[in-house]
Amino acid sequence: HDAKEQHDGFRRFTGQSGQDSTDRLTLLGDLRRALTDTSQFTLHYQPKIGLGGTGGVIGVEALARWHHPERGPVPPGQFVPVLETTSLIHPFTERVLTIALQQARQWLDDGLRIPVAVNLSTRSLLDESFPDRLAALLASTGVPGELLGIEITEHTVMSDPSTTIEALNRVRALGVRTSIDDFGTGYSSMTYLKLLPVDELKIDRSFVADMVTDPSSRALVASSVDLAHNLGLTVVAEGVEDAATADALAALGCDIAQGYHFARPLPAADLFQTQRG
Ligand code: C2E
Ligand code: MG
Ligand code: MG
Ligand code: MG
Repeated sequence: HDAKEQHDGFRRFTGQSGQDSTDRLTLLGDLRRALTDTSQFTLHYQPKIGLGGTGGVIGVEALARWHHPERGPVPPGQFVPVLETTSLIHPFTERVLTIALQQARQWLDDGLRIPVAVNLSTRSLLDESFPDRLAALLASTGVPGELLGIEITEHTVMSDPSTTIEALNRVRALGVRTSIDDFGTGYSSMTYLKLLPVDELKIDRSFVADMVTDPSSRALVASSVDLAHNLGLTVVAEGVEDAATADALAALGCDIAQGYHFARPLPAADLFQTQRG
């Protein structure tokens, strides 16, 4: 392949319509190989910032990064959905959790108690053996469950509510915190929200992004904050890109914010530079 062909191939296999099954197979082959290589998948960490009280970094969210040997960085929005169509999602989840827990262990050894949240695919959460594998990873890294969080999307919940509730209960029994991610983009009913064993609700970036200029987005954010608090949940706003949005969220009583305004997702080595001098 010359450079142009590589580029076209990349565009096609990451495109929305998925027209070319050969490219999908190429991507799956590359992902399978990447899972046998310890250097291609890494995690970046985005700080979660407390909006009330003393503020500051109250934890981080781990976000997967794939550095393809020829194509360079491929964002998770392009490869995670492909992994999710096959059982390759299981070793991927195992890899992500292992890296995140090893990092949490490293921070503990450095005297830092930093809760780490990991995004979890529906298929991984609903896998019968998942809670036991998670327990084994916590035990082998010696990280207390309280320092780990898992984020699942609203879509996960609605795909199979009763199995999701059971799985979340088993995960929570390990002390692990649970969050609903991208809240507002799915169609979760109030009934399920009330029944779900979750600790945190994360308002989707699409509503947060224009809440200062769009009254209906602002109303959605305000009612999500109230709903979360009425259910006893912590509420997080994702995608905060400017000070005006951060101020508006604080005024609404939103507990936590994440976004480029505070910090981009960063490699662990670049995160707590000030503490390390
Ligand atoms: P998410 O969990 O909702 O993560 C938030 C996404 O928004 C991240 O994109 C993050 O880099 C981006 N972001 C954060 N702050 C801002 C901001 O202020 N403005 C804008 N425009 N974007 C912001 P990323 O890293 O590309 O991840 C995309 C999605 O891929 C994640 O959405 C999550 O659903 C999925 N994902 C990432 N890592 C993993 C993983 O390890 N496992 C699974 N299953 N899914 C993952
Ligand atoms: Mg997330
Ligand atoms: Mg999200
Ligand atoms: Mg999102």
